[in-house]
Amino acid sequence: MFERMTNAKLDELHFRSDSSTGLHAIIAIHNTRLGPALGGTRFISYDSTNNAITDAIRLAKGMSYKAALAGIESGGGKAVIIKPLHAFDRNALFNKFGEFINSLNGNYITAMDSGTTMDDMDAIATKTQYVTSTTRSGDPSPYTAKGVFLSIKAAVAYKLGKESLDGVTIAVQGLGHVGGELVRLLAEADARIIICDVDKNKTEHFARCFKTDTATPDAIYQTKCDVFAPCGLGAILNDQTIPQLQCKIIAGAANNQLTEERHGLDIFQRDILYAPDYVVNAGGLIYVALNHQGISHNIIYERLNNIENSLSQIFEQADNAGTATSEVADQLAEDIIFNQQ
Ligand code: NAD
Repeated sequence: MFERMTNAKLDELHFRSDSSTGLHAIIAIHNTRLGPALGGTRFISYDSTNNAITDAIRLAKGMSYKAALAGIESGGGKAVIIKPLHAFDRNALFNKFGEFINSLNGNYITAMDSGTTMDDMDAIATKTQYVTSTTRSGDPSPYTAKGVFLSIKAAVAYKLGKESLDGVTIAVQGLGHVGGELVRLLAEADARIIICDVDKNKTEHFARCFKTDTATPDAIYQTKCDVFAPCGLGAILNDQTIPQLQCKIIAGAANNQLTEERHGLDIFQRDILYAPDYVVNAGGLIYVALNHQGISHNIIYERLNNIENSLSQIFEQADNAGTATSEVADQLAEDIIFNQQ
């Protein structure tokens, strides 16, 4: 375990098991040099505890890098709760999880993530103040979607030389809180949209509402398009999917899209412009962190423009160095996290 922590430069890993509620929770704290570790709680099924730990570590590291490049004074952390296989009392489970967070004395602040809701955050808030995205503070997803939209615009301007998304073909994978809102923004901008979700009903619903084309979850990788926007789960860019890609740009919300770091180089060698996921999807973190500090929604919206600026800098540096955008982004983030005074 210590070897895995060292490889990820992860500072802390906390576990909590509670038989009365069925809670099996992991909190990974990557780094707190810039501030308390901020990151959501994921509540999904895992094949093994080992996979849950891997997920927590990878996600916590991503949060550190995300905060560093978004100019947010937070460290990176993430919580994973393994979804119980049997019936459970959701409120009691999240209450108990709130006690776990509280025991870390503010070193980790949580928020919503895949599988958790604002109601779950409310249940946590009965036990600790170290929680955001409650029903009172609001859902960060629209801010994430807006950041993804601005990232797509920045990447299209850089790679295709187009200032507008009018007529640009964009394939969106995953139509959840972020992907659904992204489709709405893209439709408003007159983009040509192709959508897919593993949930067929969602795909049909969005196709009807926004007059989009559809693809099956398997076919989305081979879909000819200008931009591929992954907004489902992570690790979807790998040895199987990358050779199928027919896009010029990848820019989407999903965390940890590259299965391994080397896949960033594979994408670069195919002349596809990859917008690093943790830069693209920083809108939610920007909202959560600044809202927690009491900053107004208008100012938070303005701060989303930083995402476009960071991306343009990364694209230019990568071009100048003849290397992958993922490598440039990692280097910039690590300089801020580990080297800046
Ligand atoms: P969500 O759970 O609301 O939606 C995900 C959607 O993707 C679901 O409809 C699911 O059916 C679909 N999906 C999953 N795998 C798929 C696949 N292989 N093909 C097609 N569809 C698939 O999640 P969300 O809040 O919209 O977040 C989406 C992604 O963005 C996640 O990876 C999340 O970690 C990341 N993210 C979200 C936020 C946020 O503010 N919500 C912030 C940063 C990053």
